[in-house]
Amino acid sequence: MRQLLVAGNWKLNGSLAMVQSLLAGIVGDLESVTAEVAVCPPYVYLPLAQQMLKGGRVALGAQNVCNEDVGAFTGEVSVPMLKEFDCRYVIVGHSERRSLYGETDAITADKFTAVCKGTLVPILCVGESLQERKEGRAERVVARQLNAVIQHKHAVLDTFVIAYEPVWAIGTGKTATSEQAQEMHQFIREHISQHDASIAQQTRILYGGSVKGSNAHELFSQPDIDGGLIGGASLTAGDFLAICDAG
Ligand code: PEP
Repeated sequence: MRQLLVAGNWKLNGSLAMVQSLLAGIVGDLESVTAEVAVCPPYVYLPLAQQMLKGGRVALGAQNVCNEDVGAFTGEVSVPMLKEFDCRYVIVGHSERRSLYGETDAITADKFTAVCKGTLVPILCVGESLQERKEGRAERVVARQLNAVIQHKHAVLDTFVIAYEPVWAIGTGKTATSEQAQEMHQFIREHISQHDASIAQQTRILYGGSVKGSNAHELFSQPDIDGGLIGGASLTAGDFLAICDAG
């Protein structure tokens, strides 16, 4: 059985006051939640989040990481640094990193490998654009994104999470239907299975793209959907908790 995971990607949002009240709201109201819950604040708020989440059941994650551990890489943050702040998860290959910061499949795969080697858990984002879906290339694009990681020269494939996030559904209010999402999640699991069937069975595949309290239950009820990566709705405790509770 794969435990549902609901992870909040806060992106470039927050302030000290907001982090304090959002985390207090989340940790104070988790009694009915059976899913694993994680939050990924901006780097600078990790120390505060670490302090507020210590000993509790909400895991901490980062939104990005450098593929190198140490050295002359101005502006970067490494896996060992994230470990000092009790991060468990690291998002890699988010479509905003790919499209706005030029992160290729190869860069994403280097980051994924660095996270696995450092014994943190990558949340690898994959997903097609609207154009790619219209042209019938959605599965080909996702397979290419997965292959970059699976075929990496130093690949370490053990514990990782995949987030299927169709680019056309991120922050747009348009959600993939549960059938569309399940179809792609099944494809992803089968694709990983060609590499290693037992890893495929244990790997959690999250859906991301305008998930809300009102659509989370239907999405999470699909056999290959193991939770969600949540953007906008993770910035309000009530909205996020409604999704965490939808399992
Ligand atoms: C995301 O960016 O990972 C995401 C899923 O955003 P939203 O929930 O706002 O669509």
